[in-house]
Amino acid sequence: MKEIEISCKLGKELTADEIQTAAVKALGVSPKIRQQLKYRIVRRSIDARNDILYRYKVEVYRPEEVMAEYVLEEYKDVSSAEPVIIIGAGPAGMFAALRLLMKGLKPVILERGKDVHQRKFDMAKLSTEGVVDNDSNYCFGEGGAGTFSDGKLYTRSSKRGDIREVLHQLVRFGADPSILIDAHPHIGSDKLPIVVENIRKCIIEHGGEYHFNSRVTDITRRPDGQFDVEVNGASVISSVAEKSLYTSRKVILATGHSARDIYEMFDRKGWAIQAKGFALGVRVEHPQSLINKIQYHGKYQPYMPTAEYSFVTQVLDRGVFSFCMCPGGILVPAATASGELVLNGMSNSQRNSKWANSGVVVQIEPEDFPEYAQYGPLALLQFQKDIERKMFEYTGSLKAPAQRMMDFCRRIPSSGLPQTSYHPGAVNAPLHEMLPEHVSLRLKYAFPEIGNKKMHGYYTNDALLLGVESRTSSPVRIPRDPETLEHIEIAGLYPCGEGAGYAGGIVSSALDGINCAAKI
Ligand SMILES: Cc1cc2nc3c(=O)[nH]c(=O)nc-3n(C[C@H](O)[C@H](O)[C@H](O)COP(=O)(O)OP(=O)(O)OC[C@H]3O[C@@H](n4cnc5c(N)ncnc54)[C@H](O)[C@@H]3O)c2cc1C
Repeated sequence: MKEIEISCKLGKELTADEIQTAAVKALGVSPKIRQQLKYRIVRRSIDARNDILYRYKVEVYRPEEVMAEYVLEEYKDVSSAEPVIIIGAGPAGMFAALRLLMKGLKPVILERGKDVHQRKFDMAKLSTEGVVDNDSNYCFGEGGAGTFSDGKLYTRSSKRGDIREVLHQLVRFGADPSILIDAHPHIGSDKLPIVVENIRKCIIEHGGEYHFNSRVTDITRRPDGQFDVEVNGASVISSVAEKSLYTSRKVILATGHSARDIYEMFDRKGWAIQAKGFALGVRVEHPQSLINKIQYHGKYQPYMPTAEYSFVTQVLDRGVFSFCMCPGGILVPAATASGELVLNGMSNSQRNSKWANSGVVVQIEPEDFPEYAQYGPLALLQFQKDIERKMFEYTGSLKAPAQRMMDFCRRIPSSGLPQTSYHPGAVNAPLHEMLPEHVSLRLKYAFPEIGNKKMHGYYTNDALLLGVESRTSSPVRIPRDPETLEHIEIAGLYPCGEGAGYAGGIVSSALDGINCAAKI
């Protein structure tokens, strides 16, 4: 086998003939056997440096060589197998469940939110009426935080596991096969709910269980090693939850980074948790046409993929970086309780809105805010809550405090705001004063630098900054044994995914779910 690189103009498909010609040359074989050569495209990326091209990586095989296919393990019938409780039906929980099915264990999923279709109604209410349902919103509900997102499937680390297992399962459940080869794959929030629903159907068909409206409120480990997992409070049994207590010997805790009640439960029980750094800043919205112009050097054509961007820089010894960029996307309210304001972004599969949004955030460590030290391991969680409340209190609603980019950096009020995709709306505000100086100062230096050195045109008053982007990763870590992946004090309990502080993003959380299930 040889891996070859072939490029072709964007908007044109690579043909079998082109691949065979390149393969004959690379393998040094006779052109007569070109039809018998086997090939597989393994990667496609865009090169916008000069002529705008697709660059393909292709594996080519001689006729006598075996081209092995990636094969997913089959799921077993687990109806009467030993149960493993999974708390949370986000990527970590769902992929843990699928791995348990492969190994013959029965996943019992407890999810505080609703199924993916019911969830949509609560999110519509959130955007149009400003009503936050504490259990059903952009972070909580079937599929977790990533269901109504851009569905970017990037992860920087392949050390966490075999990304192919995640991508192939997503394709099995309905994602477009192009995610298997694209350098920057994404699914889109119009397609993700179908994938999430198909995963649930598969888990139930194979004997696993899903319980919605089931918010876990307590976990107790009995002396015999069994866990009692309490749902919706001991005394208040919800009319919608089917049961109030579930029992198993192993529990995967995959509740995501917004389940503040879970961290508070650990703290109350005296179970080890640790304060962890995270990143905070603003959501930045530009016209997508401007980002297309910048990234394609003025050569953008409508048939080209909507342009993305990402950057990382250092300002005053701290990382400042773009986070979860949504090309052709919209801004959404990602609060999980009333009285708080936090923004995130999502796109559909076509990425065809007229806006580009991204978080631009500054790294924060617990020692940066000594005034929160009194909260111990919950120090940065409390800090995060306070900022989100401050933003809400400024507007008194889910309208976001907002300022034009150059005005923010010059530290002057904006006179009028540009249009925004954010449905609840924006209110002119001195974001430069409202954000902590640690963040505001670094952003003030970062935006002009990005505009000067990396993306000419990015630093503009046509860009709107909206506050606040504060749910980049968990401000708390639930520590676990690096070998067994169990909690350092509680055998049989597996802190998992983004909420435990060991993953960030859909793919890495899914991989962490697979890894925890594999340990079980
Ligand atoms: C709007 C938005 C857009 C995003 N876009 C992207 C993107 O494009 N690409 C990307 O890689 N990442 C994106 N992310 C981040 C990504 O969604 C998360 O990194 C990922 O979902 C984390 O997976 P997880 O399974 O660890 O946790 P989560 O997805 O947060 O899932 C946790 C689940 O646990 C449930 N839960 C919480 N507490 C309890 C409880 N007490 N009892 C029972 N259930 C509970 C929640 O309801 C939730 O379903 C986005 C996030 C948001 C909010």
